[in-house]
Order: sequence, then structure tokens, then C-alpha cells
Amino acid sequence: MSGWDELGNTLNDAARIGAKKAGKWFEAGKLHMNLANAELDLKEIYEKIGEEIYKGRVLDVRESPKIQDLLVKAARLEEKVGKLKDKIHQSEQGGICPGCFKKIEEGARFCPYCATPQTRGYKDRF
Ligand SMILES: [Zn+2]
Repeated sequence: MSGWDELGNTLNDAARIGAKKAGKWFEAGKLHMNLANAELDLKEIYEKIGEEIYKGRVLDVRESPKIQDLLVKAARLEEKVGKLKDKIHQSEQGGICPGCFKKIEEGARFCPYCATPQTRGYKDRF
């Protein structure tokens, strides 16, 4: 019977670790989703700016209040995208091992607890 108990405990442990990991992934997923949405919004704004310039035959964007408005919106979104990328960068690289989620020294190449190789920063992949 002890074998079953052991299996039960192992499964409980696996479930617990799984849930912990899922939570982390959920957090990361949310950030990635927000980033994707912000980037999509930004793309739409740039498309609108292009459309305005084309339709209105605008030679100087300073003469178009509508384009000025869109440019302000685009700048705000650029800032948001930058902040989200920083957040993702921090969550991926900010001293937390993706293998065991223990706090480790920033910039470490391997986790001292579970030896998981640490991926390079998110920014480096852009
Ligand atoms: Zn680790």
C-alpha cells in the first residue's frame, strides 16, 4: 500500500509544482498578450497615419491636427510597448530561474540550484 501512498505524494508534488509553474506562465502569458495587443494597436495607428497622409495628400504632418493626434497616441503606445518589454525582460531575466523559480544572481549563466542554463535577456531577441 505504501507504494500507492508514495505515488500519491509524487503526484501531489507534481501537481503542486505544475500549478506553481502554470501561475508563472500565466503571468508571462498576460505580459506577452498585453505586448501583442499594444503592438497591434500601434500598427493600426501607423496605418491610419499613412492613410491620412495618402488621402489628404499631406505634405507636412505638422499641418494636420488629426495626424498630430495620432502621433501623440503612437508615442504613448511606443512607451507602453517599451515598458512591457522591460517587464518581460525583468520577469525572464530578473534573477528568477525559469527551471525552479528560485531567486538567483542576475546575469548568472546557470542556476546554482537546478543547473538550468539561463536564457539571454528578452531584449536580445528583438
Ligand atoms: Zn533553477
